[in-house]
Amino acid sequence: MKKLLLALGAALLATVPAAAQSDYPTRPITVIVPFAAGGPTDTVTRIVGEHMSRTLGQQLVVENVVGAGGTTASTRAMRATPDGYTIITGHMGTHAASVGLYPKLAYDPRKDFEPIGLIAGTPILILAKKDFPAKDLKEFIAYVKANGSKLNEAHAGVGSVSFTTCLLLNHLLGVKPTLIPFTGTGPSMNALVAGQVDYMCDQIVNAVPQVQAGTIKAYAVATPQRNPALPDVPTTVEAGLPDYQTSAWNALFAPKGTPKPILDKLSAALDKALSDETVRKRLLDLGSDIPEGKARGQEALAAHVKAEIDKWTPIIKAAGIEAK
Ligand code: ASP
Repeated sequence: MKKLLLALGAALLATVPAAAQSDYPTRPITVIVPFAAGGPTDTVTRIVGEHMSRTLGQQLVVENVVGAGGTTASTRAMRATPDGYTIITGHMGTHAASVGLYPKLAYDPRKDFEPIGLIAGTPILILAKKDFPAKDLKEFIAYVKANGSKLNEAHAGVGSVSFTTCLLLNHLLGVKPTLIPFTGTGPSMNALVAGQVDYMCDQIVNAVPQVQAGTIKAYAVATPQRNPALPDVPTTVEAGLPDYQTSAWNALFAPKGTPKPILDKLSAALDKALSDETVRKRLLDLGSDIPEGKARGQEALAAHVKAEIDKWTPIIKAAGIEAK
């Protein structure tokens, strides 16, 4: 009898999560953005999040959790209950470069998260304040080499895309500017527009409105082709720094152990958002690359995270940077 009751109890326990999975979601979903509001990760999350909320019938609520180049928020997301009600937008920094940057990183992006899908690729631009005394990339390089540590480079913390991609730039140029950390490139863009910092490397989605308005300078986009959102900005190949090729990405992840049916609902909602004309226009107007076909979804993101860790770790080691 006791055995039977135990078995019944176990069966009941097993059916509760299953029911919770098929009803999912029954309440709002928190999406942690590991940087300040108004920056690139926040922007792309909100664009797809609005559409996903309509598909899922529950609001995706963005929570900006800043600190340590996005690794504070990622650690928190890793530890969240894996029930689909807390997910995170990770990116090339938090879920790839941080592995090389932080020898004691609290999480392994490959093992401690369930991939949901890529949101968008975000090419990198070399940007400077409006009155930076260089008219093109060649002059920029000469000026930065001549002035070194007198110049201030803004970034969003060790582990961020801006930190890592400018680390590569500075390494290529052999320069060591003074690094000024912010809680995201939303606030660092404000400082650049105000002329309080000299230059930064940032994801295109954060820069298009400012470049179009003429409030900052864009010297080059670090991709093989020009970007349709900023057709006048040359590529690094055209502008004379062909070795500087770098592009970031933002993607949705859930904590390890989130049930597959829940992950599938989230991936399907993201996929639908990325096929919606309005969402696509908003992302494309800001210069993002929208993943298509096989580049979407869980498997593609898992493979991308692995490849990006393998790509960035030796670059970071070569630059000799390590966060404690
Ligand atoms: N993606 C960050 C943000 O949204 C910036 C960065 O990683 O550089 O602010």
